[in-house]
Amino acid sequence: GCPGRLLELKGNIRVLCRLRPGTPSSLVSSEPGPGGTVTTCYRGRQNCFRLDWVFPADASQEEVFRELEPAVLSCLRGYSVCIFTYGQTGTGKTYSMEGPPEDPGIAPRALQSLFREMGTGGQHRVTLSMVEIYNEAVRDLLAPGPPERLAVRQGPAGQGGIQVTGLTYWDVPNLEMLHQMLRLGRSNRATAATAMNQHSSRSHALVTLTLRAASPPRGAGPAGTLHLVDLAGSERAWKAGAAGALRGDQDGAQRLREARTINRSLLALGGVMAALRARRPHVPFRDSQLTRLLQPALGPGATAVLLLQISTRPEDLGETVCSLKFAERVG
Ligand code: ADP
Ligand code: MG
Repeated sequence: GCPGRLLELKGNIRVLCRLRPGTPSSLVSSEPGPGGTVTTCYRGRQNCFRLDWVFPADASQEEVFRELEPAVLSCLRGYSVCIFTYGQTGTGKTYSMEGPPEDPGIAPRALQSLFREMGTGGQHRVTLSMVEIYNEAVRDLLAPGPPERLAVRQGPAGQGGIQVTGLTYWDVPNLEMLHQMLRLGRSNRATAATAMNQHSSRSHALVTLTLRAASPPRGAGPAGTLHLVDLAGSERAWKAGAAGALRGDQDGAQRLREARTINRSLLALGGVMAALRARRPHVPFRDSQLTRLLQPALGPGATAVLLLQISTRPEDLGETVCSLKFAERVG
């Protein structure tokens, strides 16, 4: 039985959960499948979380994608879809989103599926952009020159959109080129990672595909968009930065600042999703760069999927409970 509060499929936000393979702790148990649950026992308290879908630790990349494919393909009918991977660093966010070359994750599978569906007739125009958000600074991962900090502004009055000045949008004619561009963006992120000490776990990576019918029967059709977001590690500020801050050195102060800005944007995302679900009149999109960028994609009629990645290791239990509580708030 599951006496906890239930996460149910409401509106257009779905919360899926994937368990990281590894030695399972007896303090985390799960019932996989649709409407599955994860039960944790932490500090003497049992909590049961129900999700829209739970993937067991041995779930394949294909199984995960199968649940996401209908949402991905809805972009071809003009819908806006956001897929997020959320969780503590090391729980498999990037594994699920990108995957190793021999076992591709959501992003490569989504592109393949979209191009298969579009066929080869060139009926769709596909545009790609890719940014990273680090410490609330937005950087273009596909800029031809050296990466610069981009300004995010509210678009022209009445149009409701946002403008990212200087961001490059690439026309991608085929799947091969798309994969190539993604690899380029990924390597630009990785370069920064080595230079800035595991920077990738502290930044959000956002891939945006826009699909527009090139020659619909009657004028231009609506553009569908697919956002694939590999979020920064959700570990709490004290873990990432407090120890360093206590040391009082430069590096420690930097870690704490990062932890605060990561938390700010993850909290903002949670706040936006919770407001959308509750259909509150005010949705706090402006609270972070991440939510400002995604504002056009998270409006009415949009689909958002949060893939929660959790660890079952005993030492990660506190973080696992935090992640599940985040999902509960969003749901
Ligand atoms: P994150 O992006 O959340 O920090 P990663 O995706 O980098 O985590 O995963 C951490 C490590 O765990 C990587 O070595 C990755 O290959 C491995 N890993 C994560 N999930 C799986 C999985 N489902 N199957 C096999 N290996 C996994
Ligand atoms: Mg990662």
